[in-house]
Amino acid sequence: MNFKTFSFHPQINAGISTAGYSTPTPIQSQTIPAILEGKDVFGLAQTGTGKTAAFVLPILERLIKGPRGKLRALILSPTRELAEQTHVAINQLGRQTGLRSMTIYGGVSSSSQIRGLRNGVDIVVACPGRLLDLKDQRAVNLNNIEILVLDEADHMFDMGFLPSLRRIVALLPERRQTLLFSATMPSEIRKLATEMLHNPVTFEISITKPIDTISHAIYNVDQSRKLEMLMLLLRESGQGQVLVFTRTKHRAKKLAIQLSQAGISATSLQGNLSQSQRDLAMNSFRRGRVKVLVATDIAARGIDVSQVSHVINYDIPDTADAYTHRTGRTGRMEHLGTAFTLVTKEDLPMVRTIERLMGQALERRVMSDFDESVRVPSQPVQTTNKISQNRTNNNRFRSFSRSN
Ligand code: AMP
Repeated sequence: MNFKTFSFHPQINAGISTAGYSTPTPIQSQTIPAILEGKDVFGLAQTGTGKTAAFVLPILERLIKGPRGKLRALILSPTRELAEQTHVAINQLGRQTGLRSMTIYGGVSSSSQIRGLRNGVDIVVACPGRLLDLKDQRAVNLNNIEILVLDEADHMFDMGFLPSLRRIVALLPERRQTLLFSATMPSEIRKLATEMLHNPVTFEISITKPIDTISHAIYNVDQSRKLEMLMLLLRESGQGQVLVFTRTKHRAKKLAIQLSQAGISATSLQGNLSQSQRDLAMNSFRRGRVKVLVATDIAARGIDVSQVSHVINYDIPDTADAYTHRTGRTGRMEHLGTAFTLVTKEDLPMVRTIERLMGQALERRVMSDFDESVRVPSQPVQTTNKISQNRTNNNRFRSFSRSN
């Protein structure tokens, strides 16, 4: 299949060529026809699958006809980073259409957002809180919305946005098309879909399983030696960029400082930063000026850096879904990725939960000199003294070791 199948307007096809896309990804080939037909869609797909273009392209096709400067499409995002990335994708794919998109989110002054809305815009990508603030100030008119996208709905739920989402949806015209995308399907999201979608077509793209361009392994380590082990893993990670996850903002900040002091270029992305500090950290990482970005789950949402070669869980995540989200930050599109998790004795129950979700055992690795008393019991246990074995070479290999 190629993009010609969809018979997009030539101005949209031009955007697809500029983006360098030649073949639709599975979520695109499955959802685009249904969206073009005007159906409600429930897409179960994690980030990295091409879901943004899956909804952006049909939105552009729909809006290209009809009045300009009226807000007709609303995309709701959990984070400002994701909102910005979606806005960038709209601008890239829709450059020739002349359709105008803008972002709305908190943490920055609202005056330019209010001005942008006043000047006339066709598509808004918004975080729920600031959108409601602007609605309360009567700065935004939602009466002409024809198409609503709830992106990363499970993250919006995690972040406590469900009441805001319900308030926003109640402000929209009843006759509209609604698209809901989520990487996972907790019962709350299923309920939300029942409430908000009419006869939806459901598509599932490798739900909850990490994409198979990622190699997964866990390393046993004592809490007190995590930093030492991380530094060894970083030294062995080659030229690639590494996203490291910690459990708390404090740990993220401290770890980035410790790495910098050890001569490894690192920065942190955590909730205590101002918007401009966040942008600075993100841009340095995106442009490859720093090798390591240390982040918490919330701060890392929406990060799309295709060169991330390694995700390292310095602290194991609290849920198996969070593991999927974290590790989905590597192995994007054509690239191969590696996901390491440092595991202490206390983490064993979570390792099992993750393995259950993935339906596979995670490969065990042991580094020489490290405390083996915390070795994670399981099958199959593979030991190696060298990390280099784990590097992504030319072979595209399966993600995990066999399960029993
Ligand atoms: P997403 O899942 O929307 O975050 O997309 C992940 C990455 O895939 C982004 O960098 C997109 O630009 C890229 N992408 C989306 N669709 C395609 C496609 N059909 N061919 C190649 N790259 C794509």
